[in-house]
Amino acid sequence: MRVVGIEGTAWAASAALYDTDTEAVVIESDAYQPESGGIHPREAAEHMGSAIPEVVSAILDHADETSDGPGLDIDAVAFSRGPGLGPCLRVVGTAARSLAGTLSVPLVGVNHMVAHLEIGRHQSGFDSPVCLNASGANAHLLGYHDGRYRILGETMDTGVGNAIDKFTRHLGWSHPGGPKVERRAADGEYYDLPYVVKGMDFSFSGIMSAAKDAVDEGVPVEDVCAGLQETIFAMLTEVAERALSLTGTDELVLGGGVGQNRRLREMLESMCEQRGADFYAPDPRFLRDNAGMIAVLGAKMHAAGDTLSIPESSVDPDFRPDEVPVTWRGDAES
Ligand code: ATP
Repeated sequence: MRVVGIEGTAWAASAALYDTDTEAVVIESDAYQPESGGIHPREAAEHMGSAIPEVVSAILDHADETSDGPGLDIDAVAFSRGPGLGPCLRVVGTAARSLAGTLSVPLVGVNHMVAHLEIGRHQSGFDSPVCLNASGANAHLLGYHDGRYRILGETMDTGVGNAIDKFTRHLGWSHPGGPKVERRAADGEYYDLPYVVKGMDFSFSGIMSAAKDAVDEGVPVEDVCAGLQETIFAMLTEVAERALSLTGTDELVLGGGVGQNRRLREMLESMCEQRGADFYAPDPRFLRDNAGMIAVLGAKMHAAGDTLSIPESSVDPDFRPDEVPVTWRGDAES
């Protein structure tokens, strides 16, 4: 089976082709780069409007070149239905509906956060892992129970990447801030910042205010970056450990763009090692937003008959992972 995936929830206009026989995932992406500040929804949607047709066209060319017979040999079109920025999602939804209609193939609506989890589960071969999704707009722990991915703990305010990006915007650094904080933290000494975990949930807003104040008061920015990473990632690691303990699972996967951070991966890996659990972090190209994960989960959903008619295919900017009936796992209720 060959499935085209289309992603565009925030900054990455992305299309992919996934072939279930060869397991090959080819991804074409074009990133929106704000001229200043953070992601502006209208500008991001304009980017999607021009970049989605281009990345889709590149993937269709690839499908044509690698097709065994006549035609493109595509079985389904999968797209990110949400969560994400409404104006961007609407562009993606329109592109996916028109492509599925043109090719006369089924349409599959994928939850972007479940796709972050499923790409790790797919590549690791883990059976039923807990997933830490550490992305731009989200931060939560997911665990499977009774036909759904349940949210075991989550941020009480902003997503983890957005929190870091707000701090770097205060410093006048360009978007995205996460990689820059990682580089500067390597030259810094730990600086103490508030640590906010409440049960299974956590909060970043107070830490960010304290980090901004510290820089304004003259604390070296490298030290604040080091303190920021250690504090935020320790919070995520603590809650991930509690989720493993709560569920009795000994498998952890990481998802989301912040998962590209080496220090976060080190902390999670070391925690898992100490508990005798297995840890898996996908390659960076599958951690940051990408259409590959949409195509891979789209193929599983299509195989399970989980497709959408056009009237059912509206996008949902607030689409939570626990709203999704997990139809594609052998042990799931449909
Ligand atoms: P979501 O998946 O919730 O829709 P998103 O669309 O913002 O999130 P992602 O690609 O998952 O996109 O994550 C982007 C975020 O990852 C940005 O906030 C960016 O600063 C952060 N990020 C990227 N690289 C690193 C890094 N090395 N360290 C920390 N954060 C990073």
